Amino acid sequence: MEFRYHNPTRLTFGEGTFGQVGELTAPLGSRAMLVTGRSAMEKAGYLQKAKDLLEDAGMAVTVFNKIPPNPTLDAVMEGRELAQAEGCDVMVGLGGGSAMDAAKAIAVAASHDCDMREFLLPDENGEKRLPSEATLPVVAVTSTAGTSSELTPFAVISLTDTHEKPAMAGPNLFPRIAIQDPELTYTMPAHVTAATGVDVFCHAAEGYISTVATPLTAHTALKAIELVAECLPKAVAAGAHLEARRGMMLANTFAGYTLSQAGGNVMHALEHPMGGHYPDIAHGAGLAAIIVAWGEQMWERAPERFATVARIFGVEDPDDRSAAAQVGGVLKEFLTAVGMEVTLSDLGIEQEMLGTLADDALRYMLGGVRKTPGETTREDLMGLLRASY
Ligand code: NDP
Ligand code: MN
Repeated sequence: MEFRYHNPTRLTFGEGTFGQVGELTAPLGSRAMLVTGRSAMEKAGYLQKAKDLLEDAGMAVTVFNKIPPNPTLDAVMEGRELAQAEGCDVMVGLGGGSAMDAAKAIAVAASHDCDMREFLLPDENGEKRLPSEATLPVVAVTSTAGTSSELTPFAVISLTDTHEKPAMAGPNLFPRIAIQDPELTYTMPAHVTAATGVDVFCHAAEGYISTVATPLTAHTALKAIELVAECLPKAVAAGAHLEARRGMMLANTFAGYTLSQAGGNVMHALEHPMGGHYPDIAHGAGLAAIIVAWGEQMWERAPERFATVARIFGVEDPDDRSAAAQVGGVLKEFLTAVGMEVTLSDLGIEQEMLGTLADDALRYMLGGVRKTPGETTREDLMGLLRASY
């Protein structure tokens, strides 16, 4: 057996650790760009607090608070211009995956004089350019639990002209510092809690069955799935359930250590095209729409592992094949319990777009499709999409 594990991000976890953002960032630069979304962090008071903490640590701070959910290349390029004009030398991403991914992409854009599409889209050999060591250092403070972007070498950026939502990736995209402070998630409304929690489940579950899973990622993935099963319904039902909030952040930690090694697979490969064509669909909602079909149509490819997932959600059957066959049903119940039982048509996706979604997945998310056990054809993807409609 041989496997590798690489995650150079320095993680700080815990209630109140947000207060360390100044002292953790200061050694990395002197002019910080604070990258965040359009309202949540400002409303919660965290934007001002972060600015104060960075300034108290002796840094100059430029605020860029224009990142939309499913961040666009246009927003990244606007950030690049501001970062260069202000001479920013460190990026602080504060918010959900959208703000953190934008901070990572601006760190690349501000330090590389080329078309960002070279990093985002595969060339004729199926390869993407990797961000170099010149990439500015990133401090990622997550306010959702979540994408675990704070622990991964990925940044997902939408191209509005071509309706694509690809990711840039590479070892230099790992943030230098990750802060996972459960307190920042207390203001998430139930629907954001649920959607981001479903994302945690998918990172862990896809990683668990992935063709590139290792004994380490299998362990972190299972821990994450157990925590989601236990804590997500509580966090959705009562946002002030602090143990459930902590449990979901911990699930996000374990899922992050899974995702950073194994990447996403077929569910993420299908969700990105959805977000590309329909930017208003929340990442977790797009994933939620295909989970049940994924369980029903994929379990035979890895019966033992799907049986393990099914048992975490309450299946008691000792036989692996018959337990695995029940995974779609128990996941459906779970999604209903957290208010995320949605179909592609509920999300506003037009039926005639399903073929385009499958084609896009095979074109620019092929790496993810291929990490699904077995051969996955266009017809398989269409099967998942049709059953999810
Ligand atoms: P977003 O960052 O898009 O946030 C969703 C919404 O929730 C926004 O309206 C945001 O407000 C709001 N919000 C965020 N945090 C809080 C809070 N604490 N309280 C109240 N409201 C809050 O959601 P996600 O975290 O799910 O990120 C999704 C993005 O991350 C997608 O683009 C997805 O593709 C990507 N992703 C990246 C991965 C990676 O490894 N890099 C992995 C998986 C997904 P506002 O807009 O004001 O900030
Ligand atoms: Mn995701």
